[in-house]
Amino acid sequence: MVYDCIVLGLGGVGSAALRAAAVRGWKTLGIEQFGVVHDRGSSHGQTRIIRTAYFEHPDYVPLARRAWRAWEELQTECRQPLVEKTGLLQMGPPDGEVVQGVLASAEQHGLTVDTLTPDEVILRFPAFKPAPGQIGLFEEPAGFLRVETCVASLLKSARSAGATIVANAEVESFDVAANGVISLETTEGTYQAERLIVAAGPWTQRVLKEMDLHFKVIRKQQQWFQIDRVDTKWENGFPCYLFETENGIFYGFPEIDRLGMKVAEHTGGEPVADPSGLDRETNRNDQQRCEHFLDGHMNFTKRRLVHDSACMYTMSPDGHFVIDRHPQIDNVVFAGGMSGHGFKFLPVIAQQLVDLLDAKSDPLFDFLRMSGRDG
Ligand SMILES: Cc1cc2nc3c(=O)[nH]c(=O)nc-3n(C[C@H](O)[C@H](O)[C@H](O)COP(=O)(O)OP(=O)(O)OC[C@H]3O[C@@H](n4cnc5c(N)ncnc54)[C@H](O)[C@@H]3O)c2cc1C
Repeated sequence: MVYDCIVLGLGGVGSAALRAAAVRGWKTLGIEQFGVVHDRGSSHGQTRIIRTAYFEHPDYVPLARRAWRAWEELQTECRQPLVEKTGLLQMGPPDGEVVQGVLASAEQHGLTVDTLTPDEVILRFPAFKPAPGQIGLFEEPAGFLRVETCVASLLKSARSAGATIVANAEVESFDVAANGVISLETTEGTYQAERLIVAAGPWTQRVLKEMDLHFKVIRKQQQWFQIDRVDTKWENGFPCYLFETENGIFYGFPEIDRLGMKVAEHTGGEPVADPSGLDRETNRNDQQRCEHFLDGHMNFTKRRLVHDSACMYTMSPDGHFVIDRHPQIDNVVFAGGMSGHGFKFLPVIAQQLVDLLDAKSDPLFDFLRMSGRDG
Protein backbone atom coordinates (compact mmCIF):
# COMPACT_ATOMS: atom_id res chain seq x y z
CA MET A 1 0.00 0.00 0.00
CA VAL A 2 1.24 3.51 -0.79
CA TYR A 3 0.30 6.10 1.86
CA ASP A 4 -0.39 9.70 0.87
CA CYS A 5 2.04 10.80 3.55
CA ILE A 6 4.49 9.27 6.02
CA VAL A 7 5.75 11.13 9.07
CA LEU A 8 9.19 9.94 10.21
CA GLY A 9 9.51 10.41 13.99
CA LEU A 10 6.67 10.91 16.44
CA GLY A 11 8.16 13.23 19.04
CA GLY A 12 6.68 16.70 19.37
CA VAL A 13 6.95 17.86 15.75
CA GLY A 14 6.03 14.50 14.24
CA SER A 15 2.94 14.02 16.41
CA ALA A 16 1.68 17.45 15.40
CA ALA A 17 2.55 16.79 11.74
CA LEU A 18 0.78 13.42 11.80
CA ARG A 19 -2.37 15.15 12.98
CA ALA A 20 -2.11 18.00 10.45
CA ALA A 21 -1.55 15.58 7.55
CA ALA A 22 -4.47 13.37 8.60
CA VAL A 23 -6.74 16.39 9.08
CA ARG A 24 -5.69 17.52 5.58
CA GLY A 25 -7.36 14.31 4.39
CA TRP A 26 -4.23 12.35 3.52
CA LYS A 27 -3.94 8.65 4.28
CA THR A 28 -1.13 9.09 6.79
CA LEU A 29 1.31 6.80 8.59
CA GLY A 30 3.60 7.78 11.46
CA ILE A 31 6.75 5.74 12.15
CA GLU A 32 8.55 5.96 15.50
CA GLN A 33 11.72 4.13 16.53
CA PHE A 34 10.70 3.99 20.22
CA GLY A 35 7.30 3.66 21.88
CA VAL A 36 4.93 6.61 21.61
CA VAL A 37 5.23 9.44 24.18
CA HIS A 38 8.71 8.32 25.25
CA ASP A 39 11.49 10.06 27.19
CA ARG A 40 14.44 9.41 24.84
CA GLY A 41 14.33 12.52 22.62
CA SER A 42 13.42 16.19 23.16
CA SER A 43 9.72 16.11 24.07
CA HIS A 44 9.45 14.98 27.69
CA GLY A 45 9.88 16.30 31.22
CA GLN A 46 6.46 17.51 32.38
CA THR A 47 6.46 21.12 31.16
CA ARG A 48 7.43 23.56 28.40
CA ILE A 49 7.17 27.36 28.59
CA ILE A 50 4.82 29.12 26.18
CA ARG A 51 5.33 32.86 25.74
CA THR A 52 4.62 35.52 23.12
CA ALA A 53 6.97 38.54 23.57
CA TYR A 54 9.75 36.55 21.97
CA PHE A 55 13.30 37.65 22.84
CA GLU A 56 14.91 35.48 20.13
CA HIS A 57 13.25 37.31 17.17
CA PRO A 58 10.10 39.44 16.79
CA ASP A 59 9.01 37.36 13.77
CA TYR A 60 8.06 34.49 16.10
CA VAL A 61 5.31 36.63 17.68
CA PRO A 62 2.57 36.03 15.06
CA LEU A 63 3.39 32.30 15.15
CA ALA A 64 3.15 32.25 18.95
CA ARG A 65 -0.24 33.99 18.84
CA ARG A 66 -1.48 31.38 16.40
CA ALA A 67 0.00 28.55 18.47
CA TRP A 68 -1.87 29.70 21.59
CA ARG A 69 -5.18 29.43 19.73
CA ALA A 70 -4.25 26.03 18.31
CA TRP A 71 -3.34 24.57 21.73
CA GLU A 72 -6.57 25.89 23.21
CA GLU A 73 -8.54 24.28 20.38
CA LEU A 74 -6.76 20.95 20.90
CA GLN A 75 -7.42 21.20 24.63
CA THR A 76 -11.14 21.60 23.93
CA GLU A 77 -11.11 18.78 21.40
CA CYS A 78 -9.28 16.32 23.66
CA ARG A 79 -10.80 17.49 26.97
CA GLN A 80 -7.36 17.39 28.56
CA PRO A 81 -5.56 20.23 30.37
CA LEU A 82 -2.70 21.10 28.01
CA VAL A 83 -1.87 24.76 28.47
CA GLU A 84 -1.85 26.67 31.77
CA LYS A 85 -1.55 30.47 32.07
CA THR A 86 0.80 31.36 34.93
CA GLY A 87 2.46 34.46 33.52
CA LEU A 88 6.20 34.65 32.89
CA LEU A 89 8.78 36.77 34.68
CA GLN A 90 11.87 37.44 32.58
CA MET A 91 14.80 39.20 34.23
CA GLY A 92 18.21 40.36 33.17
CA PRO A 93 20.54 43.30 32.74
CA PRO A 94 18.90 46.28 30.95
CA ASP A 95 21.17 45.86 27.91
CA GLY A 96 21.03 42.04 27.86
CA GLU A 97 19.73 39.74 25.14
CA VAL A 98 16.54 38.82 27.03
CA VAL A 99 15.39 42.28 28.17
CA GLN A 100 16.28 43.95 24.87
CA GLY A 101 14.70 41.14 22.86
CA VAL A 102 11.45 41.02 24.83
CA LEU A 103 11.07 44.82 24.66
CA ALA A 104 11.74 44.84 20.89
CA SER A 105 9.13 42.13 20.24
CA ALA A 106 6.59 43.80 22.54
CA GLU A 107 7.07 47.17 20.86
CA GLN A 108 6.94 45.83 17.32
CA HIS A 109 3.78 43.81 17.95
CA GLY A 110 1.97 45.99 20.52
CA LEU A 111 2.23 43.43 23.34
CA THR A 112 1.69 44.37 26.96
CA VAL A 113 4.65 43.57 29.18
CA ASP A 114 5.01 45.09 32.69
CA THR A 115 8.45 46.50 33.45
CA LEU A 116 9.41 45.92 37.10
CA THR A 117 12.27 47.15 39.29
CA PRO A 118 13.92 44.56 41.58
CA ASP A 119 11.86 45.93 44.54
CA GLU A 120 8.63 45.58 42.55
CA VAL A 121 9.58 42.00 41.66
CA ILE A 122 10.13 41.16 45.36
CA LEU A 123 6.82 42.81 46.32
CA ARG A 124 4.98 40.69 43.78
CA PHE A 125 6.96 37.45 44.16
CA PRO A 126 8.90 37.42 47.46
CA ALA A 127 10.54 34.09 46.53
CA PHE A 128 12.80 35.87 44.00
CA LYS A 129 16.05 37.63 44.90
CA PRO A 130 16.75 39.90 41.91
CA ALA A 131 20.13 41.60 41.74
CA PRO A 132 20.20 45.42 41.93
CA GLY A 133 20.10 47.06 38.50
CA GLN A 134 18.27 44.16 36.85
CA ILE A 135 15.03 44.70 34.98
CA GLY A 136 12.03 42.42 35.38
CA LEU A 137 9.52 42.00 32.56
CA PHE A 138 6.26 40.29 33.40
CA GLU A 139 4.19 38.91 30.56
CA GLU A 140 0.76 37.87 31.73
CA PRO A 141 -0.44 35.77 28.77
CA ALA A 142 2.32 33.17 29.16
CA GLY A 143 2.58 29.89 30.98
CA PHE A 144 3.36 26.24 30.46
CA LEU A 145 2.33 23.31 28.30
CA ARG A 146 2.04 19.81 29.76
CA VAL A 147 4.49 18.26 27.36
CA GLU A 148 3.63 14.54 27.49
CA THR A 149 -0.13 15.23 27.55
CA CYS A 150 0.30 17.49 24.52
CA VAL A 151 2.11 14.78 22.54
CA ALA A 152 -0.44 12.13 23.60
CA SER A 153 -3.33 14.44 22.63
CA LEU A 154 -1.82 15.23 19.23
CA LEU A 155 -1.46 11.50 18.55
CA LYS A 156 -4.98 10.77 19.77
CA SER A 157 -6.38 13.50 17.56
CA ALA A 158 -4.31 12.22 14.60
CA ARG A 159 -5.69 8.72 15.08
CA SER A 160 -9.24 10.10 15.24
CA ALA A 161 -8.57 11.82 11.92
CA GLY A 162 -7.56 8.45 10.44
CA ALA A 163 -3.77 8.28 10.93
CA THR A 164 -1.99 4.96 11.51
CA ILE A 165 1.02 4.59 13.83
CA VAL A 166 3.84 2.08 13.69
CA ALA A 167 5.96 2.25 16.86
CA ASN A 168 9.26 0.53 17.67
CA ALA A 169 10.35 0.64 14.02
CA GLU A 170 13.50 2.55 13.14
CA VAL A 171 13.72 4.01 9.65
CA GLU A 172 17.11 2.91 8.34
CA SER A 173 17.00 4.62 4.95
CA PHE A 174 14.67 6.04 2.35
CA ASP A 175 14.73 6.11 -1.46
CA VAL A 176 12.73 7.92 -4.08
CA ALA A 177 11.69 6.05 -7.24
CA ALA A 178 11.47 7.66 -10.69
CA ASN A 179 7.68 8.00 -10.27
CA GLY A 180 8.25 9.95 -7.02
CA VAL A 181 7.08 7.21 -4.64
CA ILE A 182 9.20 7.17 -1.48
CA SER A 183 10.18 3.81 0.08
CA LEU A 184 11.28 3.69 3.70
CA GLU A 185 13.27 0.70 4.92
CA THR A 186 12.63 0.15 8.60
CA THR A 187 13.63 -2.50 11.11
CA GLU A 188 10.02 -3.74 10.81
CA GLY A 189 9.62 -3.76 7.02
CA THR A 190 9.22 -1.41 4.07
CA TYR A 191 6.63 1.38 3.87
CA GLN A 192 5.80 3.58 0.89
CA ALA A 193 4.29 7.02 0.47
CA GLU A 194 3.73 9.86 -1.99
CA ARG A 195 5.09 12.38 0.53
CA LEU A 196 7.46 12.34 3.51
CA ILE A 197 7.70 14.61 6.54
CA VAL A 198 10.99 14.20 8.43
CA ALA A 199 10.55 15.09 12.12
CA ALA A 200 13.55 13.26 13.57
CA GLY A 201 14.63 15.85 16.19
CA PRO A 202 18.19 15.09 17.36
CA TRP A 203 18.46 12.33 14.72
CA THR A 204 17.72 14.72 11.79
CA GLN A 205 21.28 14.76 10.45
CA ARG A 206 21.42 10.97 10.55
CA VAL A 207 18.18 10.68 8.56
CA LEU A 208 19.00 13.50 6.12
CA LYS A 209 22.72 12.71 5.87
CA GLU A 210 22.92 13.83 2.23
CA MET A 211 21.93 17.38 3.20
CA ASP A 212 25.08 18.40 5.09
CA LEU A 213 23.15 20.10 7.90
CA HIS A 214 25.18 21.77 10.65
CA PHE A 215 23.01 21.05 13.67
CA LYS A 216 24.62 20.42 17.06
CA VAL A 217 22.91 18.15 19.57
CA ILE A 218 23.36 19.27 23.17
CA ARG A 219 22.54 17.38 26.37
CA LYS A 220 20.20 19.19 28.74
CA GLN A 221 19.38 18.23 32.29
CA GLN A 222 15.92 19.02 33.63
CA GLN A 223 15.95 19.05 37.44
CA TRP A 224 13.29 19.09 40.13
CA PHE A 225 14.05 20.67 43.50
CA GLN A 226 12.04 20.79 46.68
CA ILE A 227 12.49 24.05 48.56
CA ASP A 228 10.95 25.10 51.86
CA ARG A 229 8.44 27.69 50.54
CA VAL A 230 4.76 27.42 49.75
CA ASP A 231 4.39 30.53 47.61
CA THR A 232 6.29 28.86 44.76
CA LYS A 233 3.37 26.49 44.15
CA TRP A 234 1.29 26.90 41.04
CA GLU A 235 -1.97 27.16 42.99
CA ASN A 236 -0.47 30.11 44.91
CA GLY A 237 0.04 32.14 41.74
CA PHE A 238 3.78 31.57 41.16
CA PRO A 239 4.82 32.25 37.54
CA CYS A 240 7.19 30.59 35.11
CA TYR A 241 10.49 32.49 34.96
CA LEU A 242 13.54 32.98 32.76
CA PHE A 243 16.61 34.83 34.05
CA GLU A 244 19.61 36.02 32.09
CA THR A 245 22.49 35.92 34.59
CA GLU A 246 26.26 36.39 34.38
CA ASN A 247 26.53 32.57 34.30
CA GLY A 248 23.98 31.92 31.56
CA ILE A 249 20.22 31.79 31.02
CA PHE A 250 18.23 29.70 33.53
CA TYR A 251 14.49 29.10 33.68
CA GLY A 252 11.96 27.39 35.88
CA PHE A 253 8.34 26.63 36.61
CA PRO A 254 6.06 26.81 39.61
CA GLU A 255 5.73 23.60 41.60
CA ILE A 256 2.87 21.76 39.94
CA ASP A 257 3.04 18.50 41.86
CA ARG A 258 4.97 16.67 44.56
CA LEU A 259 8.08 16.41 42.40
CA GLY A 260 8.86 20.03 43.24
CA MET A 261 10.04 22.97 41.19
CA LYS A 262 11.55 22.23 37.79
CA VAL A 263 14.66 24.29 36.97
CA ALA A 264 17.03 24.03 34.00
CA GLU A 265 19.72 25.93 32.14
CA HIS A 266 18.91 27.14 28.63
CA THR A 267 22.55 27.91 27.82
CA GLY A 268 25.48 25.49 28.22
CA GLY A 269 25.24 21.70 28.06
CA GLU A 270 27.55 19.07 26.64
CA PRO A 271 27.61 17.99 22.95
CA VAL A 272 25.98 14.63 22.21
CA ALA A 273 27.82 12.53 19.60
CA ASP A 274 25.09 9.89 19.30
CA PRO A 275 21.52 10.76 20.36
CA SER A 276 20.74 7.05 20.76
CA GLY A 277 23.48 6.79 23.38
CA LEU A 278 22.47 9.85 25.46
CA ASP A 279 24.00 9.73 28.95
CA ARG A 280 20.99 9.63 31.26
CA GLU A 281 22.88 9.67 34.57
CA THR A 282 22.80 12.80 36.75
CA ASN A 283 25.47 15.23 35.58
CA ARG A 284 26.85 16.80 38.76
CA ASN A 285 28.18 19.88 36.98
CA ASP A 286 24.72 20.65 35.51
CA GLN A 287 23.18 20.05 38.93
CA GLN A 288 25.63 22.43 40.61
CA ARG A 289 25.06 25.14 38.01
CA CYS A 290 21.30 25.05 38.69
CA GLU A 291 21.87 24.97 42.47
CA HIS A 292 24.15 28.00 42.14
CA PHE A 293 21.47 29.78 40.13
CA LEU A 294 18.79 28.95 42.72
CA ASP A 295 20.97 30.03 45.64
CA GLY A 296 21.72 33.35 43.96
CA HIS A 297 18.23 34.17 42.70
CA MET A 298 15.69 32.70 45.11
CA ASN A 299 15.02 32.98 48.84
CA PHE A 300 14.77 29.72 50.78
CA THR A 301 16.66 27.97 53.54
CA LYS A 302 16.60 24.36 52.33
CA ARG A 303 16.68 22.79 48.89
CA ARG A 304 16.95 19.18 47.75
CA LEU A 305 17.26 17.70 44.26
CA VAL A 306 14.56 15.02 43.99
CA HIS A 307 14.60 14.11 40.31
CA ASP A 308 16.34 14.82 37.01
CA SER A 309 15.86 13.84 33.40
CA ALA A 310 18.22 14.16 30.44
CA CYS A 311 16.87 15.68 27.22
CA MET A 312 18.38 17.08 24.01
CA TYR A 313 18.40 20.42 22.20
CA THR A 314 19.13 20.27 18.46
CA MET A 315 20.81 23.61 17.79
CA SER A 316 20.85 25.18 14.35
CA PRO A 317 23.83 27.47 13.65
CA ASP A 318 21.76 30.64 14.25
CA GLY A 319 19.41 29.26 16.92
CA HIS A 320 16.33 29.52 14.67
CA PHE A 321 14.31 26.55 13.41
CA VAL A 322 14.85 25.23 9.90
CA ILE A 323 11.54 24.33 8.24
CA ASP A 324 11.66 23.70 4.53
CA ARG A 325 11.43 21.40 1.58
CA HIS A 326 14.31 18.98 0.92
CA PRO A 327 16.56 20.84 -1.58
CA GLN A 328 16.63 17.91 -4.03
CA ILE A 329 13.35 16.09 -3.38
CA ASP A 330 10.13 18.09 -3.76
CA ASN A 331 7.88 15.67 -1.90
CA VAL A 332 10.09 15.54 1.22
CA VAL A 333 9.87 18.31 3.84
CA PHE A 334 11.48 18.60 7.26
CA ALA A 335 11.60 20.62 10.47
CA GLY A 336 14.85 20.52 12.42
CA GLY A 337 17.22 22.59 14.53
CA MET A 338 14.45 23.44 16.97
CA SER A 339 17.19 24.92 19.20
CA GLY A 340 15.45 24.36 22.54
CA HIS A 341 12.42 26.55 21.97
CA GLY A 342 10.21 24.76 19.45
CA PHE A 343 7.59 23.00 21.51
CA LYS A 344 5.15 25.88 21.89
CA PHE A 345 4.91 26.23 18.10
CA LEU A 346 4.18 22.59 17.23
CA PRO A 347 0.68 22.99 15.75
CA VAL A 348 1.73 25.88 13.51
CA ILE A 349 4.97 24.22 12.41
CA ALA A 350 2.96 21.13 11.52
CA GLN A 351 0.59 23.17 9.36
CA GLN A 352 3.52 24.75 7.53
CA LEU A 353 5.01 21.29 6.81
CA VAL A 354 1.73 20.14 5.29
CA ASP A 355 1.36 23.41 3.37
CA LEU A 356 4.87 22.99 1.90
CA LEU A 357 3.86 19.54 0.63
CA ASP A 358 0.74 21.14 -0.83
CA ALA A 359 2.94 23.62 -2.76
CA LYS A 360 1.81 26.44 -0.46
CA SER A 361 4.00 28.33 1.95
CA ASP A 362 2.98 30.84 4.57
CA PRO A 363 5.21 33.96 4.28
CA LEU A 364 5.27 34.19 8.09
CA PHE A 365 7.67 31.22 7.94
CA ASP A 366 10.05 32.78 5.41
CA PHE A 367 12.61 33.64 8.10
CA LEU A 368 12.80 29.93 9.02
CA ARG A 369 13.48 28.57 5.52
CA MET A 370 16.92 27.32 4.45
CA SER A 371 17.73 29.82 1.75
CA GLY A 372 20.42 32.31 2.65
CA ARG A 373 21.12 30.55 5.96
CA ASP A 374 23.82 28.18 7.07
CA GLY A 375 21.53 25.20 7.81
C1 LIG B 1 15.08 20.33 28.39
C2 LIG B 1 14.29 20.98 27.29
C3 LIG B 1 13.52 22.09 27.59
C4 LIG B 1 12.80 22.73 26.60
N1 LIG B 1 12.02 23.81 26.92
C5 LIG B 1 11.21 24.34 25.99
C6 LIG B 1 10.28 25.34 26.37
O1 LIG B 1 10.20 25.74 27.54
N2 LIG B 1 9.46 25.84 25.39
C7 LIG B 1 9.51 25.40 24.11
O2 LIG B 1 8.74 25.90 23.29
N3 LIG B 1 10.39 24.45 23.73
C8 LIG B 1 11.22 23.91 24.65
N4 LIG B 1 12.09 22.91 24.30
C9 LIG B 1 12.21 22.51 22.90
C10 LIG B 1 11.17 21.53 22.48
O3 LIG B 1 10.83 20.63 23.51
C11 LIG B 1 11.72 20.82 21.26
O4 LIG B 1 12.01 21.81 20.27
C12 LIG B 1 10.73 19.86 20.66
O5 LIG B 1 10.19 19.03 21.64
C13 LIG B 1 11.47 19.06 19.59
O6 LIG B 1 10.64 18.06 19.08
P1 LIG B 1 11.14 17.15 17.88
O7 LIG B 1 9.96 16.43 17.39
O8 LIG B 1 11.96 17.96 16.94
O9 LIG B 1 12.17 16.13 18.56
P2 LIG B 1 11.83 14.77 19.36
O10 LIG B 1 10.76 15.01 20.32
O11 LIG B 1 13.13 14.24 19.86
O12 LIG B 1 11.26 13.82 18.24
C14 LIG B 1 12.03 13.20 17.25
C15 LIG B 1 11.47 11.80 17.11
O13 LIG B 1 11.96 11.18 15.96
C16 LIG B 1 12.18 9.81 16.27
N5 LIG B 1 13.15 9.30 15.30
C17 LIG B 1 14.36 9.81 15.00
N6 LIG B 1 14.97 9.08 14.05
C18 LIG B 1 14.14 8.08 13.73
C19 LIG B 1 14.22 7.00 12.81
N7 LIG B 1 15.28 6.81 12.03
N8 LIG B 1 13.17 6.15 12.73
C20 LIG B 1 12.06 6.33 13.50
N9 LIG B 1 11.95 7.33 14.40
C21 LIG B 1 12.97 8.21 14.52
C22 LIG B 1 12.73 9.88 17.68
O14 LIG B 1 12.68 8.64 18.35
C23 LIG B 1 11.83 10.93 18.29
O15 LIG B 1 10.66 10.38 18.84
C24 LIG B 1 12.85 22.25 25.27
C25 LIG B 1 13.62 21.11 24.96
C26 LIG B 1 14.33 20.48 25.96
C27 LIG B 1 15.15 19.27 25.63
